[in-house]
Amino acid sequence: MNTRALIPVAKPSLSGLEERYVVDALRSGWISSQGPYIDRFEAEFASRCGAGTAVSTSNGTTALHLILAAAGIGRGDEVIVPALTYVATANAVSYCGGRPVFVDVDVDTWCVDEAQVRAAIGPRTKAVIAVDLYGHPADYTALRNICQEHDLLLVADAAESFGASVEGSPVGSLADATTFSFFGNKILTSGEGGCVTTSRQDLGAKMRLLRNQGMDPERRYYFSVVGYNYRLTNLAAALLCAQLERSVEMLDRRRYIVETYETELGNIGSVSLQRVVGGVRRAPWLASLLVAPPGVRGMRDRVARRLQQLGIETRPFFIPMPSLPAYRAEGDREYPVSEDLSQRGINLPTYCELSDDDLAEIVDCVRGSIAAEIDRASSGLVATRSGSAEFMSTDVGN
Ligand SMILES: *Cc1c(COP(=O)(O)O)cnc(C)c1O
Repeated sequence: MNTRALIPVAKPSLSGLEERYVVDALRSGWISSQGPYIDRFEAEFASRCGAGTAVSTSNGTTALHLILAAAGIGRGDEVIVPALTYVATANAVSYCGGRPVFVDVDVDTWCVDEAQVRAAIGPRTKAVIAVDLYGHPADYTALRNICQEHDLLLVADAAESFGASVEGSPVGSLADATTFSFFGNKILTSGEGGCVTTSRQDLGAKMRLLRNQGMDPERRYYFSVVGYNYRLTNLAAALLCAQLERSVEMLDRRRYIVETYETELGNIGSVSLQRVVGGVRRAPWLASLLVAPPGVRGMRDRVARRLQQLGIETRPFFIPMPSLPAYRAEGDREYPVSEDLSQRGINLPTYCELSDDDLAEIVDCVRGSIAAEIDRASSGLVATRSGSAEFMSTDVGN
């Protein structure tokens, strides 16, 4: 019988440094949305990201909304968004009264497909939000060209990719503006928190105005526009200053974990991995594998259930936005790559304090679960007319 505690899929890494800074902020009395840790975090984060400025926010979703609002996205505007992402990317567009236009992702990198973006541009298109899905930066060189050609704003949703870079340039400097999330399961965390980096002064100033209810920075209680309260607290910023100081060490540990999963599991027949484009350094957010062969449904969920029984928590990939009731697909656009990845993808436990013993055990359990699944299915293996193999589901009930 397995007596150890469930291994979670994510867990924040909090050291004595976080404790020291938070206690310092607490004792100073600056617990709200003013204080020295906010300024310090914004300066250090902008510098780490190679950006002109960093505007901290209450979370990653408000970061997305803030940049779209600052750019003037409004009613009737269309914003191109990958179909496979977390719902916040699309919701931010809806908050502005705009319409997210979903496009499919690339089969290898799982990030937005550049040709699909081009094809989706219409007279109402105002912006593109690329998402660095599971830590791999989108193709910003291609996207910058498209956006320049069509005079569109390019936003990078880098909620999952802090620490990634392309040809040595850090994520945070690759688009007109880049948003980050510091939710509890992200690479850096303050529980809840977010940030937008940009080198465009106009956008930086507009975001600072809107983040603070639209209050004129020169005149108290004088509100020139309808703004929001999207401010980060000094307490949260204290946590983030500590996280940023520890980030090289944290990224190294997470990279080791992701690489171990990929080398140990990547050569299993039914497993495939995210392809890393040349010049790209991925961010080690959550290790992500496709555990079933292309087109095979159900197998991922059965593998996940076996792992859960063995005391290992996993996460299925996101559900494509056009398949959700909130964003039910209109028209005849199809998203075959997003749909397929969503059926086959799984995230494995990835956090700094995961021990080498636990890592080895998870690798064994994933191997065993996939092998058991292939054994189970092999009796039902049939050849389809196209010649590809398909698994017949015998336990439709789960
Ligand atoms: C986590 C995440 C967000 C939202 O961040 P919150 O801080 O939870 O609001 C946005 N986009 C992506 C891709 C994410 O993974």
